[in-house]
Amino acid sequence: MIRVSNVSKKYGDHFAVKNLSFEIDNGKVYGFLGPNGAGKSTTMNIMTGYIAASEGDVEIDGHDILKDAEEAKKCIGYLPEIPPLYQDMTVKEYLDFVAELKKVAKAERKNQVEEVMKKTFITDMQKRLIKNLSKGYKQRVGLAQAMIGNPDVIILDEPTVGLDPKQIIEIRELIRELKKDHTVILSSHILSEVAEVCDEIMIIAKGRLVASGTAEQLLKDLGSSNTLELTVKGSKKEVTELLKSVNGVNTCTVDNAPGGTVECFISYNDDVEIRDELCKKLASKDMTIYRLVNDAKSLEDIFLELTDDKYVEKIEREEAQKEEALKAEKKKKKQEEKEDTNAEPEVTKETENDEQPEASQDAAVKEEE
Ligand code: ADP
Ligand code: MG
Repeated sequence: MIRVSNVSKKYGDHFAVKNLSFEIDNGKVYGFLGPNGAGKSTTMNIMTGYIAASEGDVEIDGHDILKDAEEAKKCIGYLPEIPPLYQDMTVKEYLDFVAELKKVAKAERKNQVEEVMKKTFITDMQKRLIKNLSKGYKQRVGLAQAMIGNPDVIILDEPTVGLDPKQIIEIRELIRELKKDHTVILSSHILSEVAEVCDEIMIIAKGRLVASGTAEQLLKDLGSSNTLELTVKGSKKEVTELLKSVNGVNTCTVDNAPGGTVECFISYNDDVEIRDELCKKLASKDMTIYRLVNDAKSLEDIFLELTDDKYVEKIEREEAQKEEALKAEKKKKKQEEKEDTNAEPEVTKETENDEQPEASQDAAVKEEE
């Protein structure tokens, strides 16, 4: 299990990752989904100990990634955005070298290298120089090196970027196979890829985790649009008045349409079902409903909304307000403490009576000395 707690990474004034916290359970495929520059690679580099976080901790199967790096790293295989391949080695030489680096016992090395080559379908390529391989095969070698040492967790940064459609399908197939023996975390900026391969989707925007869950959960929790479109027989004025009288309606716009009808667009509160009351009221006034649509959002709508600058700016504003409020509270507390300590000796001096608690009397004595 991986636990990421309050991780931030700052470059100058800019947060590449801000206050990320999440947990990764065993046996699932997780997808970091976010546009370019969202902070996916930075998060993966921190989780794998490639770079240190400015703040926060990462624990891999109970081992701190920095303090207990050797043990923690044994649990992870990593394929970074730019695979760490040595171009002038053959596939086999390179994988042998990785096995040695990862301290795989000598007796096991041969077997392991053969096994990962078999699993990634590169056995036939073992004598080729890496620099002469196609991008698809290079990526398979990258996957193979991540699998050496048989780590519990395999982390893949944009594993299909730059591949052609056939290669993409092959790599996805391999990832599905990996799931049988490993927990997999992959990143992608492509929604359809994450939706297809991953059990859990983690949407990242501007270094923040803005939503997470299965596709079904995300659709259920964030997919309701809280809007209704309807076409009704009636006059603009009467229909507007009626709509405004319905419990839960936030805003409505009503426009004239052909045939004595009006087109209405209603937005309503999250937790209210307005259709019952709305339909009953319209019927009681003989305003026939010709059309009523409650458009649920697609996963793509949700993704675009959550990664939109406006949404993230809203989160940033809320964060800034919270920080301001916290600062103000701290300042106030400090001020109060200061006033208290200033006040005590004065009170003692003025009153000089026996009712003072001992500590204050001591303070007063010291003050007078
Ligand atoms: P992603 O992998 O989602 O495309 P990255 O994690 O690579 O995003 O980058 C997140 C943000 O951090 C970007 O704004 C990027 O420019 C910035 N960033 C990443 N690495 C560095 C670095 N070494 N120095 C300065 N800024 C960086
Ligand atoms: Mg990246």
